[in-house]
Amino acid sequence: MKRLTVYCASSARIRPVFFEATDRLGRLLARAHVEVVFGGGSTGLMGRLADAVLAEGGRIKGIMPRFMQEEEWSHPGVTYFEFTDTMHERKAGLLTDVDGVVALPGGSGTLEELFEVLTLKRLGLFTKPVVILNTDGYYEPLKALLDNSIAEHFMSEKHRTMWTFVDEPEDVLPALHQAPEWDADALKYARI
Ligand code: AMP
Repeated sequence: MKRLTVYCASSARIRPVFFEATDRLGRLLARAHVEVVFGGGSTGLMGRLADAVLAEGGRIKGIMPRFMQEEEWSHPGVTYFEFTDTMHERKAGLLTDVDGVVALPGGSGTLEELFEVLTLKRLGLFTKPVVILNTDGYYEPLKALLDNSIAEHFMSEKHRTMWTFVDEPEDVLPALHQAPEWDADALKYARI
């Protein structure tokens, strides 16, 4: 695991438990010499992730559309930045040359990013592990929804192996390493 993308929330109004988990994840990724790629924001879990990685001497890359930089939303300490014209280019950049993806708790932006990567994976266009950090049970409703989509045959049992839920930041790297193989042949079983 050389480089990981972490999807995270921009909200600063969330409970401390989410900040604490994000801090632990950022620090342990830095100590494991994993370069972190994220949305580049200075607020919410994005800001805390960057602070934690940098506090441990790690490397973190931000990818952000220019209009956000112009609003001065970018984190000032980030190792390096890539600026894009659109949100679509940002999302593509977040999936370029990374060895896996971690979704922390988040709102519409995080959920959109997570569902985009799962859709690309289903089509065999992204083949790396996807881990969802279920801090304090935040993602239990998502787990139930995904289970239901399989029960109702909108996806197959095979698709369940596209993601792994973990409860603690310490479980993230092991889950990434243990994730089942996935390849471009996924297109063959994308349809039910
Ligand atoms: P959410 O989980 O809804 O907070 O969405 C996180 C996503 O929102 C990020 O990946 C960005 O696309 C976007 N976003 C919202 N506010 C900011 C900000 N201050 N800095 C950077 N990205 C932001």
